[in-house]
Amino acid sequence: MTLPNTMKALEKSYPREGLWQVQAPVPEIGPDEVLIKVTKTGICGTDIHIWNWDEWAAHTVPLPMITGHEFAGEIVELGRRVSDLKVGQRCSGEGHLIQTDSRQSRAGKFHLDPGTRGIGVNEQGAFAQYLKLPAFNVVPLPDEIPDEIGAILDPLGNAVHTALSFDLLGEDVLITGAGPIGIMAAAVAKHAGARHVVITDINPDRLALAEHVVPSVRTVNVNEEALPDVVQALGLKQGFDVGLEMSGNQAALDQMVDALVMGGKIALLGIPPGQSPVDWSRIVFKAITIKGVYGREMFETWYKMIAMLQNGLDISRVITHRFDVDDFAKGFAAMKSGASGKVVLDWT
Ligand code: ZN
Repeated sequence: MTLPNTMKALEKSYPREGLWQVQAPVPEIGPDEVLIKVTKTGICGTDIHIWNWDEWAAHTVPLPMITGHEFAGEIVELGRRVSDLKVGQRCSGEGHLIQTDSRQSRAGKFHLDPGTRGIGVNEQGAFAQYLKLPAFNVVPLPDEIPDEIGAILDPLGNAVHTALSFDLLGEDVLITGAGPIGIMAAAVAKHAGARHVVITDINPDRLALAEHVVPSVRTVNVNEEALPDVVQALGLKQGFDVGLEMSGNQAALDQMVDALVMGGKIALLGIPPGQSPVDWSRIVFKAITIKGVYGREMFETWYKMIAMLQNGLDISRVITHRFDVDDFAKGFAAMKSGASGKVVLDWT
């Protein structure tokens, strides 16, 4: 198969709001890399930061940069040292590119490597017809996982990594923040055997989507209902056993600490904007364990999430919008409206 020399891509070309559709050279792969023909991509909150060109993006992303890191596609070329993958293999992949010389990597904890670089952020990304990726990062897709689900395994992986931080079997779980990752975490918590799963937000559209994706979840609009009342209504003696903080919102974390049992556990995925005041004494006196969560475990998270998808975990309804890549601006507008779930762009 002969590959074209250039490809369609969505690029951050200028240091201002927006993304631009460009013709870019098709990447040349090294001996340990593969070339992937991209079929579907998901738009992430990270991509919105890059679109908006906020302070974080301006400090982090070199220009020009092909953005995007949530993708599915098919391998079309193998580097000369790649022997365990085949052309034609459908795949997704881990967008965090790691080094192998850190203590963490050498201990097999690749997700904790301090030298990690992200595709679509530090390296050319997946909003393109072709993506080069180290063969190490490729995750083959089984036949029963369609491309559009493959394109959101990255954020589902965030949800799975966060949700599986602590044992959930039989536990009562509070999730603060009903964005797509919070909603998917609710589905995962239910699948993993949690008893009550409660998800909070102040955006009624997001709470409605949470109920649509996970009918067994109890949604709470904290502008209308107080969490202690919910704890009582559910018949919980003290509160929730495990909290998954997905919003980055200070008030949400405060409410979570209040609503947790003595000895409760919190996994933090939401990123607060800048520094925020925390009432540490309550956390100490409640003997709460807090874990920060970054990315996905390589590759335990991927293994677990694919196994759960094969075993009945259904998050498909979290995809609310689908656009052809030429209509990418509509996709970004849907994301920015705050009323969407996952938005998937079609590159075929
Ligand atoms: Zn993402």
